[in-house]
Amino acid sequence: MPISKTLCYSILLILTTSCSKNDTTTTTTSSTTTVTTNNTVPAVYNKIYGATSITNDGTYITIKTKDLPDHKSAYYATSNALYEAYTGTTFGGFTFQKNPNSILEQSGTIKIPVNPKVDPAHTATPLGPIGIALNGVLFFNQYAGPSQPLTNEIVSFDKYYGHPQQSGMYHYHVEPLYLTTTKTTKSGLLGFLLDGFPVYGPQEEDGTLVTNSMLDVYHGHTHKTMDYSSGIYHYHFTAEAPYLNGNGFYGTPGTISQ
Ligand SMILES: [Zn+2]
Ligand SMILES: [Zn+2]
Repeated sequence: MPISKTLCYSILLILTTSCSKNDTTTTTTSSTTTVTTNNTVPAVYNKIYGATSITNDGTYITIKTKDLPDHKSAYYATSNALYEAYTGTTFGGFTFQKNPNSILEQSGTIKIPVNPKVDPAHTATPLGPIGIALNGVLFFNQYAGPSQPLTNEIVSFDKYYGHPQQSGMYHYHVEPLYLTTTKTTKSGLLGFLLDGFPVYGPQEEDGTLVTNSMLDVYHGHTHKTMDYSSGIYHYHFTAEAPYLNGNGFYGTPGTISQ
């Protein structure tokens, strides 16, 4: 018995050694420098199914998007298969009134930190893109322009609560209804803001409707979610202004370039 046990361990040792040699992705370029060349993208980011590409350099997740919604919209050109005339109601029960803009393909590159960190400065969110939804569509904040509330723009949200601005950039300021009703649920992961913290729908997993009073001034809070078993700070969409983000990013924001 002792002999066969020793033999067994020896074989295991050989197998383990050869395995780790074959699987290594680390290149040692000198006695002091080690370069890791093959960072995998954490599974949670692969939920962004509408991205053109998603890569990880170890510091930032880089997401490229054309910002084209994968659902029907009255804002697509009539020649587009996803064009659909719409005369119903939209967010807040208002009757839809189309704005003069049309959806145009964008080329956005978004960099979000792989390890999101709280930023005591809580930088104000800019006008324009502040994050990305799972379908590759951009998130905007609660303003129509500098210090202008969305009040007069809400009627121009299409049946899935998005609309394009002057340069054809389609975006959501409020709950992306196609995602919460077709692709996931009211409590599902919907995307990320530029600081890397995730965005969830207007309900918790137990069905509780999230209200602003349950969230901090940045419009989020911390607890476990389906995607983060040890808990994470996350934003929620709510039915009331500011809808997605309040007084700035909770964490240090990454960048977006077009
Ligand atoms: Zn808008
Ligand atoms: Zn929550």
